[in-house]
Amino acid sequence: MTTAVAPLDVARLREEFPLLGTTAHGRPLVYLDSAATSQKPRSVIRRITRFYERENANIHRGVYALSADATAEYDRVRARVARFLGATPEEIVFTRGTTESINLVAQSWGRGFLRAGDEIVVTAMEHHSNLVPWQLVAEQTGAVLRIAPVTDAGELDLDGFAALLTARTRLVAAVHLSNALGTINPIRRITELAHAAGAVMLVDGAQSAPHLAVDVAALGCDFFACSGHKLFGPTGIGVLYGRRELLERMPPWQGGGDMIASVEYQRSTWAPVPQKFEAGTPHIAGVVGLGAALDFVESIGLDAVAAHEHELLGYATERVAEVPGLRVVGTAPMKAAVLSFVMEGAHPHDVGTILDREGVAVRAGHHCCQPLLRRLGLPATARASFAAYNTRDEVDALVAGLLQVRKVFGG
Ligand code: PLP
Repeated sequence: MTTAVAPLDVARLREEFPLLGTTAHGRPLVYLDSAATSQKPRSVIRRITRFYERENANIHRGVYALSADATAEYDRVRARVARFLGATPEEIVFTRGTTESINLVAQSWGRGFLRAGDEIVVTAMEHHSNLVPWQLVAEQTGAVLRIAPVTDAGELDLDGFAALLTARTRLVAAVHLSNALGTINPIRRITELAHAAGAVMLVDGAQSAPHLAVDVAALGCDFFACSGHKLFGPTGIGVLYGRRELLERMPPWQGGGDMIASVEYQRSTWAPVPQKFEAGTPHIAGVVGLGAALDFVESIGLDAVAAHEHELLGYATERVAEVPGLRVVGTAPMKAAVLSFVMEGAHPHDVGTILDREGVAVRAGHHCCQPLLRRLGLPATARASFAAYNTRDEVDALVAGLLQVRKVFGG
């Protein structure tokens, strides 16, 4: 992450994002909530508009040129995503987002292969999206959910995790980059341990795909889930990478058009992967927009993004230390893009509301990680999260806003 790469021209980059030039409460908007969703560059907005203005047709179904072209573009983006993640196109399933990708695995692989007494191991820092689907499938199959501990600093306790792995462990599901803490988990090591125990490994990459160069082959994982909207792309589109042999063995999870080979009144056979998992008309414009988003990411380079965000997070961590009574939550040495904190005497929601009046948009709450926050003894945190387009000046605006909060709440 700290290797020398050409620095980003952030001022120029920002010009690509129309929303970053707007105001909030009469002040220039300081958008520090990219972990929730990223803003969109003009190239993505234009690409989606052009699709609807000139290229819109349903895919796979038409013999006419417009439909054939839309199908070709849809397939091209699938190959594009495969390249982005180090996979093959057959291993890329389009979904609505990370949440749906994980539910797909839970309902297809989980219901297909889990038996009563089998064990699923997740970490204590999972987003609800990588916890609740496993609770559901555990209830449906009689499997048992085990929770790998985290330390007070917000790191995975690797020994505690390894101690949970047994001959009964069938699946391990872990977040790559924690949305609540910024912790980067050692996914390669976790995968090695999971595989040594004979378990399948799923990675929640919702936060890592936008910030770290991901290569599923290098990570060694069996499934990887991510969302387009956190990656400068549109909402409603996401990706599931699944190792081909696994996808081929898994039953479909939704039935309908496009996922079949042949249909009779009483039974059907399935299309090859990945179509087997894409029932119905997909989010074609979303896929097209995602393709443009990946072109955008590649044009700036994830290494440059990671280096910029690393520098910014370091600067922000240093600067917030100037705010009396502020404590950073999540102090793992390997961190990216997320700064969670609490302030003595001020509820995180009040912190967020006062910052909003200063034009600074941060998130306050449990960040869809209620059990993690309970483990850390907190009801909520305030969270600033960064993307390639954020600047040191914006960090300064955050700190100025926090000093305002301090004035309001005293101390
Ligand atoms: N996992 C993590 C770590 C996340 O941060 C999020 C969203 O914030 C999700 C999963 C769910 O993503 P989506 O809502 O795009 O499905």
